[in-house]
Amino acid sequence: MMKESGINPDRRMLFPKVALAAMIETLMDDEYTVIAPVLHRDVIKLAPVTGSDEIVRGLRDLQDGGRYRLEAGDETLFFEYVVGPDSAKPYFFPPIQELFSVDIRNGGFGLRQTRTSVPKLAILGLRPCDLAAIGVQDQVFAEKEPAGATHCEAERYYRRVRSESLLIAVNCTRPGGTCFCDSMGTGPKAVGGFDVAMTELGSGFVVEAGSEAGMWLLEKLPLRDPTSAELELADLKLELAREHMGRSLDTLDIVGLLDQNIEHPRWEQVASRCLSCGNCTMVCPTCFCSTLTDSSDLSAGKATRTRRWESCFTHQFSSTTTGPHRHTIRGRYRHWMRHKLGTWWKQFGTSGCVGCGRCITWCPVGIDLTKEAAAIRGSHPNAVQQPVSPQEGEVTK
Ligand code: SF4
Ligand code: SF4
Repeated sequence: MMKESGINPDRRMLFPKVALAAMIETLMDDEYTVIAPVLHRDVIKLAPVTGSDEIVRGLRDLQDGGRYRLEAGDETLFFEYVVGPDSAKPYFFPPIQELFSVDIRNGGFGLRQTRTSVPKLAILGLRPCDLAAIGVQDQVFAEKEPAGATHCEAERYYRRVRSESLLIAVNCTRPGGTCFCDSMGTGPKAVGGFDVAMTELGSGFVVEAGSEAGMWLLEKLPLRDPTSAELELADLKLELAREHMGRSLDTLDIVGLLDQNIEHPRWEQVASRCLSCGNCTMVCPTCFCSTLTDSSDLSAGKATRTRRWESCFTHQFSSTTTGPHRHTIRGRYRHWMRHKLGTWWKQFGTSGCVGCGRCITWCPVGIDLTKEAAAIRGSHPNAVQQPVSPQEGEVTK
């Protein structure tokens, strides 16, 4: 999106909190649907808002393996919580999406491609790990059409809604108990992929634009120059956040580590706890597996093909003509974790994990991939190696 602006992208500005209402109004005037964190049944989730008073304020989350609680926080702060189970994923890659239908016409069949109208979304409150996850899903869904092949309607929808979207990130000044973005090089400060990035202080937000659209938005808001003390405080908060991550993951040659430990006894141990429920894949902002279902309505003479999210933890996910081939929970957990941390690199040139910690928090039995990886590394005979080269696909941070 190209929008004219006079804001200097290299300059950070101070955005007073009372102007959050003006930001939402400006976006709505430009026909954006504004998505922001709201409180829903004791969980903070992303939902459409029409005013800043709907955005959660004065609450912080406590997260650990299999545990999520909210408690009263600093009433002056909006973004003291980290992430809830939601990411931007459902807004770009809907959990259920009709692709096409076939009906009986003139004694034959007629095909109707489903064309869902594309919302113009402004998502406010995304965390740096969420931006990284959008970048990962862009690799999966928004790549150029391969030569000789065409994207299906679902991929076209993703590309259209992404091209219309405006992303407003909030840097993390208080990481959660299950966060490990620092290990994955994705946070706590957003380094790209945003239109606007904000760091919250008591007095307001230190903001910067990351795109023409972001500059257009900031130009319409009542900004002032930050004091040097405000800029230093913003930087200090991010540095402290980096030092207080709830978890860490040693990514040194993790691709090789997992490749060399296919038969490690730890896979059996984790399988004895895993329920194969698929929660981890549902909350993961990068997981992209889906399945197709066809349904017929005999009275209307119509059949519909629908795409739904699927999980590699289900038995039917690995079905081929001879039946499911990943029979054991050991095999399913191993496949998922190796894909996230290892084989994703070979497939997409990036990690499939951005360190958001959601799969740890929302696992009903608190399985923690950072602990699983550490356990495998602990008994690996060549545990500490030199970092692999970037083209071999490693986060070397
Ligand atoms: S790791 Fe946890 S969330 Fe994932 S399938 Fe197993 S029990 Fe469910
Ligand atoms: S694997 Fe877990 S920590 Fe990594 S991106 Fe997915 S949900 Fe977040």
